[in-house]
Amino acid sequence: MNKPPRASDLGLIACEGCDLVVRQPPNNEEGFCPRCDEPLRRRKHDSLTRSWAFLIAAALLYIPANMLPIMHTQQLLERYDSTILSGVALLWHNGAYDLAIIVFIASIFVPIMKIISLAVLLIATQRGSHWRLRERTRIYRIVDYVGHWSMLDVFVVVLLLTLVQFGGLALVQPLPGVMAFGAVVVLTMLASMSFDPRLMWDAPAPHADANANPETRAANQAASEAGIHAAAAAQP
Ligand SMILES: [Zn+2]
Repeated sequence: MNKPPRASDLGLIACEGCDLVVRQPPNNEEGFCPRCDEPLRRRKHDSLTRSWAFLIAAALLYIPANMLPIMHTQQLLERYDSTILSGVALLWHNGAYDLAIIVFIASIFVPIMKIISLAVLLIATQRGSHWRLRERTRIYRIVDYVGHWSMLDVFVVVLLLTLVQFGGLALVQPLPGVMAFGAVVVLTMLASMSFDPRLMWDAPAPHADANANPETRAANQAASEAGIHAAAAAQP
């Protein structure tokens, strides 16, 4: 099957602000949207480079986010600093299984899956790969959607702070790990926002000729032969 044309092949450009489809200004300029004045861009500028920069920073900060303590708890004479993982273990031991599962998924599982998925998307796009384009687009949508929920863990820490403070007798303080974690969340969101999923579909079709529909090719050949015959018949 032939690859369907892209908007840019037809000289069209879609506004990222209001989705208006505009005829591309001449001289390959990108211009501004006539409706909302948003700069028109065929593709996000430096998408891959910026996405990689945010992603690498996020991956590096993922280490302190998990190694550094995120909160300090003091209850009567007991005091301890807990990392995300030890916090999950603590919640589990105290019977708060649902909260332990939420914190584990939101703060350990989701960030690492986001980092891995984005890295896979970036590598495949950079290589111009045609491997599972639909699935990759779906993965991007999931990563982008999940981004809205990734501050969940910070909410849980804040929730714990208020709950425990209200309980009196105990003191909970946030520690630098929370900062590193917050930075990981923000950086992965920026990485996914900088990535332009249309770049995945820009990869040149593999073996364009071999890929062309054989029936269409046969029909084209027949038509051109018929044309030649007709021209020959018309000759005096
Ligand atoms: Zn617009």
